[in-house]
Amino acid sequence: MLATVVLLLHFAAPKDAALAPQMQAELDTLFANSTVQAQLLIDSNAGSLGTPSHVVFVDVNHACMPTLVSTAGSMAHTQRVDGIIHPLVEVDCAKVATYIRSKPDLPRALARILAHELLHYLWQQPGHAHDGLFSESLSRLDLTDTTLRIH
Ligand SMILES: [Zn+2]
Repeated sequence: MLATVVLLLHFAAPKDAALAPQMQAELDTLFANSTVQAQLLIDSNAGSLGTPSHVVFVDVNHACMPTLVSTAGSMAHTQRVDGIIHPLVEVDCAKVATYIRSKPDLPRALARILAHELLHYLWQQPGHAHDGLFSESLSRLDLTDTTLRIH
């Protein structure tokens, strides 16, 4: 069954509007030939998916720039309460930017992280795959290389 998903992004720090079209393009590529259709909306309530089957709220925390903070720990997570995975995602954008060290690759990396978190929610699956987009730790290459696919 087709899942139509609207990802509502909220930037805690000033948003970088230039990120969105490239993130959307990457999501379209990742979910091509799948049963998921995902649309990004930034601080907006007008989407073109009509009434989506899912709305996922995404908090993008911290400015999307490299910092001196440690990149240890996860860059994003999805709320899980009593075994249910909720459509609430938090991404630490400064951590992602610091980790990948490449501004041009940031939209792709963010889109992949969102897609990964979205799959936790859609599949209600706290576990991970052995490789690919749904593996537990995504390397810098996984986040930026052009060939990653959903496994
Ligand atoms: Zn995960």
